[in-house]
Amino acid sequence: MLVLGIESSCDETGVALYDTEAGLLAHQLHTQIAMHSEYGGVVPELASRDHIRRVLPLTESCLAQAGKQLADIDAIAYTAGPGLAGALLVGASVANALAFALGKPTIAVHHLEGHLLSPCLADPAPEFPFIALLVSGGHTQLMAVHGVGRYELLGETVDDAAGEAFDKSAKLIGLGYPGGPALSKLADTGDATRFTLPRPMLHTPNLDMSFSGLKTAVLNLVTQQSPLDDITRADICAAFQEAIVEVLVKKSLKALKQTGMKRLVIAGGVGANRQLRAAFDDAAKKRGFTVFYPPLELCTDNGAMIAYAGAQRLKERQVAGSFAVKPRWDLASLASAD
Ligand code: ATP
Ligand code: MG
Ligand code: FE
Repeated sequence: MLVLGIESSCDETGVALYDTEAGLLAHQLHTQIAMHSEYGGVVPELASRDHIRRVLPLTESCLAQAGKQLADIDAIAYTAGPGLAGALLVGASVANALAFALGKPTIAVHHLEGHLLSPCLADPAPEFPFIALLVSGGHTQLMAVHGVGRYELLGETVDDAAGEAFDKSAKLIGLGYPGGPALSKLADTGDATRFTLPRPMLHTPNLDMSFSGLKTAVLNLVTQQSPLDDITRADICAAFQEAIVEVLVKKSLKALKQTGMKRLVIAGGVGANRQLRAAFDDAAKKRGFTVFYPPLELCTDNGAMIAYAGAQRLKERQVAGSFAVKPRWDLASLASAD
């Protein structure tokens, strides 16, 4: 079965072709970061308009890359939510129009299910069940994943997402938008011991997290150290990164202990962070669990994870034909086939 996947929930247009036998055949991406950076954040109307411009050329590139024709496609998966309503509607419209023209089914995919299953595109892929730490720009959640569509929320951030904390702190330090990767790069040259930042909710007995206080602590430090020189900037980045990584690792370890599971999956954009990966690799070695990541280029938004999640849903015959998008959509509310 050949599945076309279309992602357009925010500021990346992603298209991919996933074959249930041969695996990922092609994936193409256009990021709107340069367009939005001028405004310091995503402008929803500009995002929708740009998705319109990109989605069909990217689809053509994917077909060419895979050596396939439109007629070879068996189903079309698209991100139906959560995300920006106008941006989601572009992917939904194109998917439904193509599917109607080809006489094929559409599959409405939950964006976070795409992120959650993206480590399955790596080799080796994790087997079910596993704990997933979903760390993206809009979400930070710990889930017990028992199978496709069987997601149990164990804990989540009570305020900012981890990616959001990276981006907001980066902005305070003067690193542009989105600052997560830039902050991480600068942190590599900094001294993490010069400043100590708080680790909110680190010792609470539950699996919830909080990152807005960390951002406020960065703001206080920036004000106190102003004007920032390059070394101080790097030292603040290093202190921030160390604090956030420690919280994410400790809470994930707690989730593994609580459930007795031995496999941990890291998904979402912050999963690209080098120090986070190093800390998890280290913990895995010491504590005897296995950690899985998506391929680096599939950590942030992409069409491959949507095509893959769609293909899993197709296997379970969970096919939806609705045109509706869901800008707000709870992952734990998804159903499985059994
Ligand atoms: P969501 O999936 O929750 O709707 P999103 O799609 O915007 O949000 P992703 O595309 O998964 O989120 O990830 C983007 C986030 O990842 C941004 O906040 C970005 O700063 C962060 N990010 C990307 N690379 C890194 C990195 N190397 N270190 C830290 N953060 C990173
Ligand atoms: Mg993005
Ligand atoms: Fe995302």
